[in-house]
Amino acid sequence: MVKAERRMSQGPARIANSAEAPPPAAGSADEAVRVAKPRRAAPESAVRPTRAEINLGALRHNLRVLGRAAAFELPAGRKPCEVWGVLKADAYGHGAPAVARTLERAGMPGICVALLEEGIELRGAGIRLPILVMGGYYGPHDSGLEAVLEHRLVPVVYRREQVENLGRAAERTGATASVHVKIDTGMGRLGARAGEVDAIFEALAREPHVRLDGLMTHLACADGDDTAPTLAQLAAFDAAVGRARSLGLRPRFVHAANSAALLRPVELGEARYDLARPGIALFGVAPPGAAATSPGALGELRTVMRVRSEIVALRTIAAGERIGYGHLFEARRTTHIATVPIGYADGISRSLSNRGHVLVRGKRAPIVGAVSMDLTMIDVTDIEGARLGDEIVVLGGQEGPLGQGVIRAEEVADQIGCIPWEVLTAISRRVPRFYREP
Ligand SMILES: *Cc1c(COP(=O)(O)O)cnc(C)c1O
Repeated sequence: MVKAERRMSQGPARIANSAEAPPPAAGSADEAVRVAKPRRAAPESAVRPTRAEINLGALRHNLRVLGRAAAFELPAGRKPCEVWGVLKADAYGHGAPAVARTLERAGMPGICVALLEEGIELRGAGIRLPILVMGGYYGPHDSGLEAVLEHRLVPVVYRREQVENLGRAAERTGATASVHVKIDTGMGRLGARAGEVDAIFEALAREPHVRLDGLMTHLACADGDDTAPTLAQLAAFDAAVGRARSLGLRPRFVHAANSAALLRPVELGEARYDLARPGIALFGVAPPGAAATSPGALGELRTVMRVRSEIVALRTIAAGERIGYGHLFEARRTTHIATVPIGYADGISRSLSNRGHVLVRGKRAPIVGAVSMDLTMIDVTDIEGARLGDEIVVLGGQEGPLGQGVIRAEEVADQIGCIPWEVLTAISRRVPRFYREP
């Protein structure tokens, strides 16, 4: 039965493959997992002065803040939860290999990613920590589970078939596979629902080659003012954890908390369980609810990414003159316009046209006209002494002769109606990342 299924599932894949490449050898990892490696602009080849600077000291500082949140006012006798950073989407645009290396050296005990490809990339970069693959997708026939084993990754699963397929793959390689099972307690996105948990737990109890290492859920509203939906999710999760235990399963890690939940230990302390999975907070952004309610003792998060460029052209236009695509900006006075080589193809949203700000010489200057693909104009009339080559900052802090300031991802997100997660992950491959030790 199983064999027949496998052969049938291989059929179409072979036909599709034969058009471009020889089919995989019989018995090899069925449809070999191809890992596309999106290439990012490298610092060595950067001519343009536009770059993202990643402050590794700020990253370590944020890890310490999260460690304090894990330990904040725990009930007597409870150990603080482990903090496993979520480094999906190229570590929220900061560059996963360098971020992972830094956090590994700083003592972080584990990493979470979304994709199998992301886990493989980190193994390729020499990361030895446990890596949890949360996305739960391992190819159309779960063939990626072979790669999971090969690269010593820990898959998140939520269907009985995934447990069985992983069991067969593990049996072939003589390994024991660890998994975390995801429970859907109200996110409605991924995970076993109440009616499905027994089937998956029973499969695990039967399967000698697969060990249940973790049970997880994901919170939909941990950053909201109302904690009721989160508390309801935690209650549903506790019921699933109890069910697993009653079937004799002993998961080492029970986990639910994202950044928002971890940073609200007063209201949502119980969400910490054995492990927390913060992403955005590591990069210096406190989700809205958490920003409002984190106890001061946790300390302030520091922004990690700073996106900067330089003024490459300057002109003075008269009152009434218009500039940029669509002539969206009209000068009301004699205006000094500076042009900066960064645009929406670099991840600076076009919605910032005539709306956003940048820092020049330590002072804010407005973006004027339409943000275009490669270039953005700013009004530097009120920036005393602005000249060619001056640094401009679109994200992060700057100190200069006119003062100091910071443009946070939260502010940009508010201006354009998105969320800080989007602002950070939008910084594109064209922008080389430079890593800085303070
Ligand atoms: C992205 C993600 C996280 C981290 O979320 P943040 O809000 O960035 O802390 C945690 N768990 C899961 C399942 C995720 O997908």
